[in-house]
Amino acid sequence: TLSSAEAFISNQDGQSLLTLENYIGGQFSENTSENIFISSFNPKTGREYAKVPVSDETAVQSAVDAAKAAFPSWAKLSRRERSHHLRRIASLLQENRELLAVWESIDQGKTLERARVEIDRAVSNFQYFSSYILHDDNRARMVDGVALTYEHRSAIGPFALISPWNMPLYLLTWKIAPCIAFGCTAVAKPSEVTSMTAYLLAEVLRRAELPPGVVNIIFGDGRTTGTAVVTNPDIHGVSFTGGTATGVQIRKLTAEYIYKHVSLELGGKNPTLVFEDVELDEAVRVASQAAFENQGEICLCGSRIYVHSSIYDDFIAKFKSHAAQAYRSQVTMGAIVSLPHYQKIRSYLELAKDEGAKFELGDIPPREPQNGYWMDPVVLTGVSQSSRVVQEEIFGPVVTIAQFDTEETAVQLANDNANGLASVVLTRDGKRMRRVGEQIQAGLVWVNCWLVRELGTPFGGMKNSGVGREGGDYSRDVFTNVRTIHLAQ
Ligand code: NAD
Repeated sequence: TLSSAEAFISNQDGQSLLTLENYIGGQFSENTSENIFISSFNPKTGREYAKVPVSDETAVQSAVDAAKAAFPSWAKLSRRERSHHLRRIASLLQENRELLAVWESIDQGKTLERARVEIDRAVSNFQYFSSYILHDDNRARMVDGVALTYEHRSAIGPFALISPWNMPLYLLTWKIAPCIAFGCTAVAKPSEVTSMTAYLLAEVLRRAELPPGVVNIIFGDGRTTGTAVVTNPDIHGVSFTGGTATGVQIRKLTAEYIYKHVSLELGGKNPTLVFEDVELDEAVRVASQAAFENQGEICLCGSRIYVHSSIYDDFIAKFKSHAAQAYRSQVTMGAIVSLPHYQKIRSYLELAKDEGAKFELGDIPPREPQNGYWMDPVVLTGVSQSSRVVQEEIFGPVVTIAQFDTEETAVQLANDNANGLASVVLTRDGKRMRRVGEQIQAGLVWVNCWLVRELGTPFGGMKNSGVGREGGDYSRDVFTNVRTIHLAQ
């Protein structure tokens, strides 16, 4: 697969379409009796380049069977042996970094530079958990001077790992690495919009000689394939990252299976608070990066900016000119992932215009984009706090800016949203950093920075942004069952 991908890249303008195949039980297999496919487009050209199979229930069942069959011996392997497997996968990913980055960029629309960062993060996911499992302890202690008590953990079983289209390989491996490190096996389903690097990952797993069935990668949409995976009785857990509406569906679909562990990482509509004491250029840099990185297609992007009224005009002037220079479509910003998503973002811009918003930067892009789904950054002011433009996740290069007079109002505005994933607080006042940081209803609070991440820290959202946390110990909690053993003599 890696070499056929290389050949395909060198002939990108050719007419031939790639057809992806499921990876089940260590083998690539043609899908489905009915042969239903979804077209995959290169967002930078708008041209179709691959066909993604929609796996039916039979294909899903064989992937689940393979994960189930592989589970007992994989769970029994020593941590050292599992760690070794993860390290081998990390090395092979690293060796193929450039190829994977090129594909991620073609498939998702992101810049090559951004894609390289994400492939490096995918490598780190395997490296981190290969090391974590060697250093985890069983937290033994004496209780009441009577019993030596320790925590015994066992892998839960075959897991469904379901990921979205915005950071495809990075987010899929953020699930696969801990899942197999802790002894579970996986049926992984990437987004039907961006399946390419998952396909290449399958070849990496084959070359790394990961035992067959430990990770099975199947392709398809949510309605047919995703639903069949999460509701399969032999799937004992679901780790899902995606939109809140899908999270609701998965909760309903899995409700009757109490034994299924379900972790949901969902959408965000994240606030950035800019206080009057900031150094303006630095604040503008952080706030615009949070708004426009990866075309605003990161769940952690700060798409609602609130600025203290005393610096509001200056901030807007600087923000506009910085964004116009630093985030230029086709130069430093990639394309929007798909035509339907482009249309969705566009519909929010039409709504903003209808509601009388001022376009400080950018405008509504053409209804029918030519030669790729390109969109310049948009900065809006004069949008009411209750507007859907401020309340709902747009997931594109669109930001609203409004002002506040007091710290209390700033916190109220930040929290006036159904989501609670991430936030940015920009201030130089040390007391305020903690006071505000500890009141914001969000799983992640970045003060004077954005997207700083260490893989052991808890990651996840409050309110409608999710259930559960992942990362380090928190990922261990997702993929293992714990027994508390009390030993008395
Ligand atoms: P989505 O919810 O449409 O799809 C995500 C995945 O779920 C896809 O693989 C899809 O095929 C699958 N799916 C859909 N319906 C399903 C069903 N009934 N059963 C099982 N699987 C199903 O999300 P998207 O549009 O691909 O991604 C964008 C969303 O992801 C945004 O809301 C973004 O905020 C969110 N996101 C969250 C995080 C986080 O860590 N919290 C990270 C990245 C993206």
